[in-house]
Amino acid sequence: MSTPFVPERRLREEMLKFGHLCYERHLLVAMDGNLSAILPDGNVLCTKAGCHKGFLTDDDLVVIDRSGRKLRGQGSPTSEMAMHLACYDERPDVRAVIHTHPPISIAFTIAGVSMARCVLPEVVLTLGTVPTVDYATTGTKSLADGIRPYVRHHDAILMDRHGAVCLGKDLLTAFCNLETMEHTALITKTARDLGGIKELPPEEAVKLRSMGLKRYGGPPSAVAKADGPHADLPEACHACSGCAHPTPSGVAPKSELKMARVVSAPLANKSVEDALVGEVLRALGRG
Ligand SMILES: [Zn+2]
Repeated sequence: MSTPFVPERRLREEMLKFGHLCYERHLLVAMDGNLSAILPDGNVLCTKAGCHKGFLTDDDLVVIDRSGRKLRGQGSPTSEMAMHLACYDERPDVRAVIHTHPPISIAFTIAGVSMARCVLPEVVLTLGTVPTVDYATTGTKSLADGIRPYVRHHDAILMDRHGAVCLGKDLLTAFCNLETMEHTALITKTARDLGGIKELPPEEAVKLRSMGLKRYGGPPSAVAKADGPHADLPEACHACSGCAHPTPSGVAPKSELKMARVVSAPLANKSVEDALVGEVLRALGRG
């Protein structure tokens, strides 16, 4: 039985809360990113173009239909909403999409370091792997079309040199997937700085993924493969550089380590995360 829809008034409150959290957790800055969720009538509540998610108010929310036409609210829906609508088209089980520019995860795409690797057991259990979609211009149909094949198999996706798209049955689930992805990027980057990463043995990764799909669910196409010999890992990740090109020892090649060290930080008195985020932003020319 599917979960009941969240009434519009509560959905609006949740959208403001998660917009603020995305900003507070350094997952986007300035006018970056956008959030959307499915209303009980099937239309889409979303953030309008050019609004700051850290100061998001109810006036910043608009309602569009499934073709992207605005129905209610002030301002225009962002051009990136085509990407959200592609997610809803491909995944009827998805009712919320959050698009942000998480700095450490984006830095992985700029450095050419894949996040489609089975490194952390909890992440394999709950999220599987995170693929990177080839670069396409922001706000275009080609970007929206480019993510479609990945949306069918993944709940968190990176777009090369751009940002992340995270999906869920509600805003909380989409936000958890986003946080998990960026937290994994931070841990992986730190491990690389300390000398390299150890991937989980393939059979352990499959066991964990199978357990996770049965326990927590996931994309329906992935859940259908939970009892298969490789769970959803090989097929879902056939296009991902991590699984397609694993390093023999599980340790990143020297070129990747060198790139990862570009964003290493002198930690001094700051928290690890703040220091790393600051360094990444400076490396991106935005700090
Ligand atoms: Zn964007």
